[in-house]
Amino acid sequence: MRQNTVKRALVAFALALPGAAIATVVAAPAAHADGCYTWKRDLYQGRSGDDVRQLQIRVAGWAGRGGIVRIDGDFGPETTAAVKRFQTAYGLRSDGVAGRQTFTKLYQLQDNDCTPAHFSYRELDDGCGEGGWSGGPVSATDTKATAVRTMWKLEALRRGLGDKPLNVTSGFRDSNCNKQVGGASDSQHLYGNAADLTSGSRSLCEIARASRDHGFSGIYGPGYAGHDDHVHVDSRRENNRDTSTNRTSWAAPDCGVSR
Ligand SMILES: [Zn+2]
Repeated sequence: MRQNTVKRALVAFALALPGAAIATVVAAPAAHADGCYTWKRDLYQGRSGDDVRQLQIRVAGWAGRGGIVRIDGDFGPETTAAVKRFQTAYGLRSDGVAGRQTFTKLYQLQDNDCTPAHFSYRELDDGCGEGGWSGGPVSATDTKATAVRTMWKLEALRRGLGDKPLNVTSGFRDSNCNKQVGGASDSQHLYGNAADLTSGSRSLCEIARASRDHGFSGIYGPGYAGHDDHVHVDSRRENNRDTSTNRTSWAAPDCGVSR
């Protein structure tokens, strides 16, 4: 978005200049969509590849009640349904085909560092204040990539809550940090696969209930031990390293959320 603003400013500037200067600016390469990823073809059911995988990461928060979108590079019915929900949520034609309109919206939502517009690496990195992505059970690279997937779901949740700010009070925790805060020994926070949330404008129960629609398979909130002051969300079903946690687990009894 920032690049577009700069480009618009340049064009406006050029219009005030003699013809030769205008030609120079107009002939410059079109602004790259963004610095993270650019799709080069329309995507729809049946297509596969890394471009599908990149799309899946960004629409996984539109999985629908209790669902997940597998990040597998194969555009199947789950992905079609998620793209449709994404399109509806942003006022686009809901046809389940990711084409120019859908990609343009994703570029608008995406920062050059691949994080969605309203969340940043700084908010999700090491929760005990040291920063960074190392010190967990998997590599820093994998942890950071998982945190990006978490952030795209948070972006969808935020949209689902009416574009109200969500605060992340704890994201990735390295092993020491996780012990320090009394986290579960197999906590999804260790993988960058979880976030603890509060909001100044939505109740914790509103967050917990809405989270069911945005691809989160672990949700804990008010009424569940230790979760009366935040809502924990994670994507345990996608984290296949530990099969004991590879299932949906929701508990926010004070909000009527259980599974
Ligand atoms: Zn948590």
